[in-house]
Amino acid sequence: MSSDHTDAGDDAHNAFITEATIEGDDDGPLAGRTIAIKDNMSTDGVRTTCGSAMLDEYVPPYNATVVDRVLEAGATMVGKANMDEFAMGGTTETSAFGATENPAAPDRVPGGSSGGSAAAVAAGAADLALGSDTGGSVRNPASFCGVVGIKPTYGLVSRYGIVAYANSLEQVGPLANTVEDAALLLDVISGPDPNDATTNDGGADSGYAAAADGDVEGLTVGVITDLIEGADDDVVETFQASLDDLEAQGAEITEVSLDSLEHAVQAYYVIAMSEASSNLARFDGVRYGPDTDAEGNWNEQFAAVREAGFGPEVKRRILLGTYALSAGYHDKYYKKAQDARAWVKQDFDDAFEDVDVLASPTMPVVPPKLGESLDDPLQLYLMDANTVPVNLANLPAISVPAGDVDGLPVGCQLIGPKFSEETIIRAASAVE
Ligand code: GLN
Repeated sequence: MSSDHTDAGDDAHNAFITEATIEGDDDGPLAGRTIAIKDNMSTDGVRTTCGSAMLDEYVPPYNATVVDRVLEAGATMVGKANMDEFAMGGTTETSAFGATENPAAPDRVPGGSSGGSAAAVAAGAADLALGSDTGGSVRNPASFCGVVGIKPTYGLVSRYGIVAYANSLEQVGPLANTVEDAALLLDVISGPDPNDATTNDGGADSGYAAAADGDVEGLTVGVITDLIEGADDDVVETFQASLDDLEAQGAEITEVSLDSLEHAVQAYYVIAMSEASSNLARFDGVRYGPDTDAEGNWNEQFAAVREAGFGPEVKRRILLGTYALSAGYHDKYYKKAQDARAWVKQDFDDAFEDVDVLASPTMPVVPPKLGESLDDPLQLYLMDANTVPVNLANLPAISVPAGDVDGLPVGCQLIGPKFSEETIIRAASAVE
């Protein structure tokens, strides 16, 4: 393997923070393929910024397990993909390195937080990409950019070497132009890792790529009505075309309602921010973060590093997360959120007694225009209504292109029970 590190990218859509090549092995299932790696995944000798000024000059001394696996499978890394700062956002606009444009509509956001990964694939700058999905960050940009993205079951893919945002929610996931390619990448990255104790061997025996055969005869698909109600009409209409595809190929379509989902966004943000506030304590200028010339005691120096290194969205989340965990408020917010999470899990378990797969539009809206979302965080959080329930329940889901509204991509989300990746891959390949 060789590495050739150039400076920050001026690529057409600002899909990359750092353009750098790391050659993979000569052969393997990904030989000849190029791959973009989200910039929260450690790459030996190539800076890994997490989209933050805090890590502007951070160069890891080792590869994340998923990076090792794609290189050993023959892929060549072509760059570190742009992302929302510390993966907090849904548009890639909170990146300290400037926003990424949506290749399908350059005045629009590519989604996020793995927006650079999806844009790189959509623009043909990479054949494949890795993203991470804590609350939709693979599926959201896949949907907005018109590519395929998979959020695996919690525990299927190693997170060793990934900069943590909210550990109980996140997974690394593949992005590609076709379901088969995304499934092939999942074959390469999945499986137990002694360096990540949350991984296990619940994966497929015969391979995920082989499951992309479009055979949905007899499959029951439940449309989640609660997630249709909040979506724009033209998005729902486009999504409907995917259901027609599934039905035409022998699937049975029914409707399902999950009452708990009205609390999912609130529960997600309390849990994600709480975990983030704890995870981000390590960025103190001693363990991680820039050395500043700040004078004063530890508290003053800690504050100065964090004041300079973090952007506004990250600061907002650390403050809110710290508040939700603080004595006196813990029961009111954090514990309530955990109760709601248990209810969401139970609702999904019950639904899967009756159907094989659940379906919804991946995003309730088409990609917003660049610069229109950041002023209204609440609006941004609500945009995650269809994706975050999957993370709360630790389930697998895939976003596959359903069509477009005046050229703006719309994604169809298919959700399955834990470790049913083969089933959702099969269903998604009947939609594309
Ligand atoms: N938009 C969500 C958030 O900001 C999702 C982030 C993610 O999946 N990394 O938390």
